Amino acid sequence: MVESNQRTYKLDEILGKPLITSSDKKTRIYGLNVKGREVEISAYSESETRKGYFHKVEIEYLPASMYLINGSCTCESFQYYGMPCKHMLKVRNVYLKNRDKINKG
Ligand SMILES: [Zn+2]
Repeated sequence: MVESNQRTYKLDEILGKPLITSSDKKTRIYGLNVKGREVEISAYSESETRKGYFHKVEIEYLPASMYLINGSCTCESFQYYGMPCKHMLKVRNVYLKNRDKINKG
């Protein structure tokens, strides 16, 4: 990858209130958009090596199949390999766990 978008954010750099915060507080979903059968989610997930620093994660996926259609993350792993990283999977899992709560508003 020629241009790296690797970076981290501190919580005070992240604007707005999360719609959902995971029970361990490491994954925070800020945006959720349902387009037909697809769901677009924007979130931040805490670095495991640098406490207090979060990666920005965007995913698009089909809940019916669990299949990630698209996504990005600002972590080193995604920037290097371009493959779904643990943050993207965490965001999906936090969404799945809280989906009913989110849908009820
Ligand atoms: Zn990542």
